[in-house]
Amino acid sequence: AKASGRNAMCFFDPQMQTNITNRVALEKDLKLALAENQFMLYYQPQVLHSQKIIGAEALIRWHHPQRGLVPPVDFIPLAEETGLILPIGQWVLETACAQIKSWEDNEHTRHLQIAVNVSARQFHQTDFVEQVSHILSHNDINPANLKLELTESLVLGDINNTILKMRKLREIGIRFSMDDFGTGYSSLSSLKKLPINQLKIDQSFIRDITSDHDDAIIVQTIIAMATSLGMEVIAEGVETEEQRAFLELLGCPAIQGYLFGRPMPIEQFEALLKKG
Ligand code: C2E
Ligand code: CA
Ligand code: CA
Ligand code: CA
Repeated sequence: AKASGRNAMCFFDPQMQTNITNRVALEKDLKLALAENQFMLYYQPQVLHSQKIIGAEALIRWHHPQRGLVPPVDFIPLAEETGLILPIGQWVLETACAQIKSWEDNEHTRHLQIAVNVSARQFHQTDFVEQVSHILSHNDINPANLKLELTESLVLGDINNTILKMRKLREIGIRFSMDDFGTGYSSLSSLKKLPINQLKIDQSFIRDITSDHDDAIIVQTIIAMATSLGMEVIAEGVETEEQRAFLELLGCPAIQGYLFGRPMPIEQFEALLKKG
């Protein structure tokens, strides 16, 4: 009886019950969030070593009426599971493109690019190319100012289909960045086949770059590889001046991280642009 009691305890784990209840509530709220305008895009600067701002990564934020600010790690996976990532992803693209349009109207900001994160489920929709080209023409923007960030696992999921889609989008003029680069399993041969413009070195390699020799070598190799394959390269998660100086030494031209700026609301980002 004792053993079965213990099993029963395990089965009715109160923590698990809380998680399920929480999840169901969160999913219900997530469905309302778009209609109630609870999402915002924050913008994190991408800069050269001179501190010149060359663009921004758009990062979604959810202002939940009761929970406050919910970080993307707490709702993007649920949005992917439920399919809600499709309308959310469309909203992100639409909002980022409207922002690009507003920057294009001013000669001081017309060169700025916005990088948008695309989830696997969103990218693999059959009409993704049509959706993107519709948003571009609807906002009447220069496609070269839109950069789509894809992960290695997204790309490797269905590589032939992915290459076809990427080519179509590249023909339109859109750019691609390989996000979290180095954490996945893409081989050099698959990398060569993909029409990628930029490798984004994952922050896990940047963290100890000044003290861990292996990390320094990995970063140096990624930079060399990007350069010889004719790609741009950017490092993310740059938090200290030491990391920045080291990356400059290694020849990584562009950086993103808390050192220069955290993701911030558009008003703050535009204030930063004016200052620079
Ligand atoms: P990610 O695409 O790898 O984004 C980079 C994350 O690193 C962001 O977290 C950013 O705030 C954080 N970060 C930037 N600089 C630093 C730094 O110097 N140090 C440290 N420790 N962290 C830094 P965030 O905004 O919480 O986003 C987390 C993830 O959620 C993103 O990872 C991305 O996978 C996903 N995500 C965010 N926005 C969107 C979106 O609009 N659509 C999709 N599909 N996913 C999104
Ligand atoms: Ca990203
Ligand atoms: Ca990343
Ligand atoms: Ca990441």
